Amino acid sequence: METWKRFTQDQRIAYFSMEIGLKAEIPTYSGGLGVLAGDTIKSAADLKIPVVAVTLLYRKGYFQQHFGADGWQQETDIQWQPEKHMQRLPTKTLVTIENRDVKIQAWLYIVKSPTGGEVPILFLDTDIPGNDEADRSLTDHLYGGGLELRLKQEIILGIGGARILRALNFAIKKYHMNEGHASLLTLELLNTARMPISELWSENNSWNMKKLMDQCVFTTHTPVEAGHDRFPYDMVEKIMPPDVPVTLLREISGEDNLNMTILALKLSSYINGVAKRHGEVSQSLFPGFKIHAITNGIHPFTWCSPFFVNMFDKYLPGWANEPELLVRVDTIPDEEVWENHCGAKAFFFQYIKEKTGKELNPDLLTIGFARRAATYKRGDLIFNDIERLLEIGKGKLQFVFGGKAHPKDDEGKKVIQRIIKQAEIMSGHIEMVYLENYNMETASYFIPGVDIWLNNPMRPLEASGTSGMKAALNGVPNFSVLDGWWIEGHIEGVTGWSIGPPPTETDKEVGRAADDLKDMYQKLENVIIPLYYDDRDGWIQVMKNSIGKNAYYFNTHVMMRRYVTDAYIR
Ligand SMILES: *Cc1c(COP(=O)(O)O)cnc(C)c1O
Repeated sequence: METWKRFTQDQRIAYFSMEIGLKAEIPTYSGGLGVLAGDTIKSAADLKIPVVAVTLLYRKGYFQQHFGADGWQQETDIQWQPEKHMQRLPTKTLVTIENRDVKIQAWLYIVKSPTGGEVPILFLDTDIPGNDEADRSLTDHLYGGGLELRLKQEIILGIGGARILRALNFAIKKYHMNEGHASLLTLELLNTARMPISELWSENNSWNMKKLMDQCVFTTHTPVEAGHDRFPYDMVEKIMPPDVPVTLLREISGEDNLNMTILALKLSSYINGVAKRHGEVSQSLFPGFKIHAITNGIHPFTWCSPFFVNMFDKYLPGWANEPELLVRVDTIPDEEVWENHCGAKAFFFQYIKEKTGKELNPDLLTIGFARRAATYKRGDLIFNDIERLLEIGKGKLQFVFGGKAHPKDDEGKKVIQRIIKQAEIMSGHIEMVYLENYNMETASYFIPGVDIWLNNPMRPLEASGTSGMKAALNGVPNFSVLDGWWIEGHIEGVTGWSIGPPPTETDKEVGRAADDLKDMYQKLENVIIPLYYDDRDGWIQVMKNSIGKNAYYFNTHVMMRRYVTDAYIR
């Protein structure tokens, strides 16, 4: 039997995502969204939930990050060989783009769990002889190019993805759109219902509409404007397959632009945000739709340092597939938690030394900050009052930073540049490193290898945030603005610490930066630094609480069970 055929025996959830991050060697992700998708699929495999995932291949990846002497980010393509990781399937499908036929092939990657569970992923690829030369590079870059390329990629993902599943004989029970990028798949479902869209949409055909909607689940991931794709209709008319009725599309998904979020909202029967707060924020952004909330997670085994894997295996066997067991973290002796943390820290510092030549002091309280360098995340906030920072931190703190800016995001690149320049200025007073090319591999050393995980986004723009959950699992407490998942995970002084005031109904960031910063400095000086240096037992208790009260719950096993009961089986 050909390899994919065993996956076509029973009905599956089709999980569509523009990016999926499984490991650094498969560079088909840019940040949290893609890593979440990968973690989701890994937990689905562990739990034997019947899923098939669909994404694009990106032969040149997202990009490799370098810094010029002036601290400005430069990008190069990543060269990788899909054939080393996955198998090309012979079956192909077609979509029409700009009135040309574009052939699509799929590469099969199988996520295999130690439990015996398996989830197939189809990576779609247009680099096929016979395709127009320009069309062969459509699936080369993740989030590269302009709006037209984005629309073409979303046609390939949504329409092409639904078609290839059919061509391969998959039986699909639900279509889960991980963010709006995939929402064109609804058009393909309308199309295959063999009913003119106008009839499906009409009053007396509400039953058909309901049947279609019952198949669709939509997860929205960000309240940030740029996260919601909009395409002008003249572009849609030029690029989209001719059988797409644009007049009707206007009715469904926005009069001015084709709004992919609205399209997904209108045609899904279950819609959710990615943390409780984000559910509420999305509800106010999209009144008229019922928005649920399922808080994101992380895949426990993937994000646990080898030091902590050994420790958990010894004291809490079975934890990786039943992370609820972490609630019993207090059965682990304090010294072992501390020693294993020091091991992860030493390993990371060795890595830093090899990469940058810089030797950090393992005895100093080390603050980590790494994530996409989007401006709302305010990576450079801590530098807004250098004198105060020196007063608090000299001889007591050191910092490690990391993260890529989108190639077109000059503001994000300025943030990185500012951090790199500040790091040079502070050298000799407070040591700081900005690590190049943050990805899933570096993250796996980085996060467990610092003492505290800093996050200070503009609220309410951090929909969930998942790196803080990776930190918690490794006994690295969070020090974060109360936004996203941290509103649910935070118990002051117990699981970590907040920055700034609690969230309010009408949160708008205006005027908050100064208050957040004051609180951050104040808490470092009066609470965090004294606890770390003067009460090690107290510190270790916070580490343990981050495991027993955060990590046991904020993981993709718990999350997937919620998706099954709330969204998939309904
Ligand atoms: C987990 C992860 C992220 C997400 O970080 P946030 O702080 O949640 O934005 C981004 N990039 C990589 C490489 C990750 O592993």
